[in-house]
Parts: sequence; C-alpha cells; structure tokens
Amino acid sequence: MSEAEAKQIERMKSILAAQKAAFRAERHRPLDKRKHDLDKIADLCRKNADAITDAISQDFGNRARIETAIAELAFVIQDAAHIKKHLNKWAKPKRVGVPLTLMPGKAVIRREPIGVAGIISPWNYPFQLAMAPLAAALGAGCRAIIKPSEYTPATAEIMKRLIAENFEEDHVSVVTGGPAVGQAFTTLKWDHLFYTGSTQVGRLVAMAAADNLVPVTLELGGKSPAIVAPDYPTEQAAKSIGWGKLFNAGQTCVAPDYVLAPNGREREIGQAIIDVAQHQFPEAASDDAYTSIVSDRHYERLNAMIEEARAAGIEVLQPEHDSQAAQAARKIPPTVVIDPPEDSAMMIEEIFGPILPIKGYAELEGALDFVNDRERPLALYVYSTDKTQAERVLDETISGGAGVNINLMHLSVPDLPFGGVGASGQGAYHGETGFRAFTHERSVLSTGKWHPSRLLAPPYGKFAERVAQRQMK
Ligand code: NAD
Repeated sequence: MSEAEAKQIERMKSILAAQKAAFRAERHRPLDKRKHDLDKIADLCRKNADAITDAISQDFGNRARIETAIAELAFVIQDAAHIKKHLNKWAKPKRVGVPLTLMPGKAVIRREPIGVAGIISPWNYPFQLAMAPLAAALGAGCRAIIKPSEYTPATAEIMKRLIAENFEEDHVSVVTGGPAVGQAFTTLKWDHLFYTGSTQVGRLVAMAAADNLVPVTLELGGKSPAIVAPDYPTEQAAKSIGWGKLFNAGQTCVAPDYVLAPNGREREIGQAIIDVAQHQFPEAASDDAYTSIVSDRHYERLNAMIEEARAAGIEVLQPEHDSQAAQAARKIPPTVVIDPPEDSAMMIEEIFGPILPIKGYAELEGALDFVNDRERPLALYVYSTDKTQAERVLDETISGGAGVNINLMHLSVPDLPFGGVGASGQGAYHGETGFRAFTHERSVLSTGKWHPSRLLAPPYGKFAERVAQRQMK
C-alpha cells in the first residue's frame, strides 16, 4: 500500500467518525434540507458539465461527449429531480391496520434515514454510478462517503473537489485510492454499504461487510443475453442490439453480452450488426463518438478474447478499419464472433467491451436452457413481436431486469427498481427503491392505557383461550 493510500485510509476513518457524530446530532434531516442537497447535486452537474465531461474523457482516452451527457450528467440531474419531486410522499409514515386485540392501537411504518453510507463505485460510468447512489442516500436523509474507482482518477478528483465545495465533510465526502483503500473501506462499520462493481470483488465486499453485519446493496455484473426469437426481423434486432452493445464501447453493465439467434441466422444477424456499426461509426478509430477502452489492461484483455477466437479458426466479423489508428486510440472496433466455443473466455467472462458473440439455438427451449444453465444475469433481452413468446421467455428465466424489443433503457425509467439477482447482485435502487435502500423502515405500535390484549396476560383465563382458538381457525 502506498503512503498516499495509507493517508486516505486514516482520513476516511476520521471522516466516518465525524459523519456518525453529525448523524447523531441530526437523525432526521428535514425534508427541505434534503431537497436542497438534491438541488446542489443537480446544480453541480449543470455548472461543471464541461469539466466533468473532460475529466471522464481524459480517463478513458476518449469518451464520446454525448454518452457522458446522456448517461452521466442528464441521468444524475433527472434522478435528483425525481427524488426531490416524490420525497414528501416517500418519506411519509405509512399507517397499517392492527388486529382486533390491539384496537384502538395505531401501527405505523416510519421511514427513517439508515445513517452513514459507504458508496464504492466502478470506472465504466464513473460519475453516474457514484452520484446516483449518493442522490438516493441524500434523499433518504443519510450521510455518505464515496470511494470511486482508481481507473478513473481525473473523474475521482473532480468529484472530490465538487463535493468538498458543495457539502460539509461530515455530510458528504470522497476518498480516493485503489483496492487497498476499497478493502479497508469495506471493513468499516457503515450503516449501509452500497457497492457497484464486479461480481468477483462484490463477493469480497459482502464477506467484509458480514463481519460487522453491515447491510449491503451489491450492484454487480454478469453476462446479459439477448435472445432473438424466430419471428423477429434481422435488421431491427441488429439496430437495437448494435446500439446497446456499442454505447460506451460495450463498457456497460447491462450491455447485451451475447446473442442467441435461431440456428442458421447467426451470420446474417452478425453481419447486420456490423453494417449498423459501419453506418454509426464509419471511422470508429478516429471518430470521437466511439469511446475508447478505459485502460491498457482492459484493452489487452479484450484483444486476447478476439485472438483466442481467431486462433481457434472461429469467424470474426469487423468493419473495415485502420488497426494502427484504433490501437493508438485504444479502441476495439465493433466485433462480432460467430459461434465461439462455450469454454472460450468470451463465453465465460463478462465481456465488457464491443465484442459480441452470437450462438445459435434450434428451439426457443434450447435458448432458455442456455440461459438457465448459467448464473442469473443482470439483464435479459428478448426480441419477439409475439407477446406470448416474449412472455414465455420472461416466465422461464430469471434476471435482474429485462427488456422486450429494447435493451439498456429499462434503467432509465426512474420508477423501475434497478438491480441484479443471485450472482448479478442483491438489493436495488433508482426511484423509491433507491430511497428505501438507504432507509430503515421502523415499525411502531402505539396504544393508549388500555387495549384488549392486556387481557392476554397470565394467569391465562377463558378470554386468552378464546382468542387463541379464534386465531388458529
Ligand atoms: P471492480 O469490482 O474491479 O471495482 C469496483 C470498485 O471496487 C472500485 O472502486 C475498486 O477500487 C473497488 N475495489 C477493488 N477491489 C476491492 C476490494 N477488495 N474491496 C473493496 N473494494 C474494492 O469493478 P470495475 O472493473 O470497476 O467495474 C466493472 C464491473 O462492474 C463489471 O462487472 C460491471 O458489470 C459491474 N457494474 C455493475 C453495475 C450495476 O449497476 N450492476 C454498473 C456498472 C458496472
């Protein structure tokens, strides 16, 4: 561990202590203050849009500015506005009914801030995936410390500066560093730990949090399939899947990871996706609208997947491109791989880049078995104009979220909970679900001096017996 990392660990411990003390002093942050916090998040996005966009681009080598505008800045601004708009309703205590024996008691669920939250974020949407959980935490009345990814240091630095300029350190703060800082972060006694990243590290985070019984939200990854049903037109499937795969050069947790296509149509669909890519990015290597791969390590990993396929004689489709320019810009051209073996890296690991394997299936049932034989994905996409068939795919599979004839966009619907299931994560956020992720639902039963259940006290008499008999009916 570097000296700088050791310093960050000491710093985060003292900030956590300060945040806990501040939380004790203000357990129920008034809603108008929370709304003001959310406004500050939206304002800092608006006022610093260019600087944030530049920082992300610097981290990636090149990040399409429009992708940053849509998926980072606009997303966070809309999210903060949505939370603000619905906050009164979400935060309101909910009254529930009471059994006869407790009448005229009053049972209420109070939605209380859970306390101080730790937020660990990844590099692929380095701003959104730190700030959207933060907005949920602030809406819920919590305090938070963010630990961004070490792969996007410029974004981490600008977030650190903007947060310091807009919030007291004992309210919101950012600590920087790599896995050593992340690991130390997970051993602290948070009131909630919100982690976004790989399934592999998510497992370590869950184990570290378990030591302190810290509740976790785990937003993880996985291989999200796109199933094209026999009835679905090739061109439309290619347009949608190609777009979702190439957005942020495939470095999206819910990007279609692989395609299952009816036997015999793999190449036709693959070529159509390459045609779409060629049309969208005629010069991917030099086009600033086509995003680079975040680091040399990730770039080499993706190239190794393509090389593995080529070495095995597997068909690899790519648009014509200047490979030297692509390499210089750390870009992987849009790549489709026809029927790679199931034991190849691209069919085992989450791809997380613009490489799309296409496997064939004989019957839809075979495609469903293929999905169900693997870990539960973060998203699943089905392309079919036949509602019954699409419904069957949904009924017979399990995934965090799903799209019918669309991909990616389910996460932009503010009231749809966003999260994984099984190996792709646990817990969810966005909209009210995000508010609840950082909320403790405290059950409170209040009665007056007298209520019938007092008669249930020992020595038990006829009344207690009658109540028990009645309740067992
Ligand atoms: P990662 O797991 O390598 O890193 C994520 C964060 O964890 C970083 O801040 C990192 O410093 C920290 N970290 C690393 N080792 C740690 C440890 N031992 N203990 C605690 N923290 C540690 O993930 P990544 O490569 O940055 O992100 C890519 C992965 O994230 C992909 O699998 C992707 O699918 C997933 N992801 C999921 C979502 C979602 O919402 N479900 C969103 C984006 C990315």
